[in-house]
Amino acid sequence: MTNENVLSEQIKGSLEQELQAAAAEADVSYLNVMQALVEDKADKYIRSAGVCPCPRCRIDVIALTLSKLPSKYVVLQQADTVPMLSVYENRYSANVLSQLMSACEVVKQHPRHNEDDEKPRGVAFVR
Ligand SMILES: [Zn+2]
Repeated sequence: MTNENVLSEQIKGSLEQELQAAAAEADVSYLNVMQALVEDKADKYIRSAGVCPCPRCRIDVIALTLSKLPSKYVVLQQADTVPMLSVYENRYSANVLSQLMSACEVVKQHPRHNEDDEKPRGVAFVR
């Protein structure tokens, strides 16, 4: 290896270290706390409202609920997730629960789990 190559290997090594340090420092992510709250509560309300527990109905309840709620994005350090969520839970749970309950009623009255068998719709999964 020539001196020049040794030098460039050293530079490359120290750049990699710097990049790794920067990535560790920026160990953050974003989260829609509304989505986290709805996903957290959905199963309980689906069960107590007597909604069909199949995956399609569960997803319908969650999607319908989230459509009615404002999204609320926060930036999180990886370690923050759980304590942050409880703060927002106190703030938004009344709104989240009322939207969850009305979504449960809609899906219960109009389940879409087998409509593919009845008639094809404009929006469908590609198979
Ligand atoms: Zn169902």
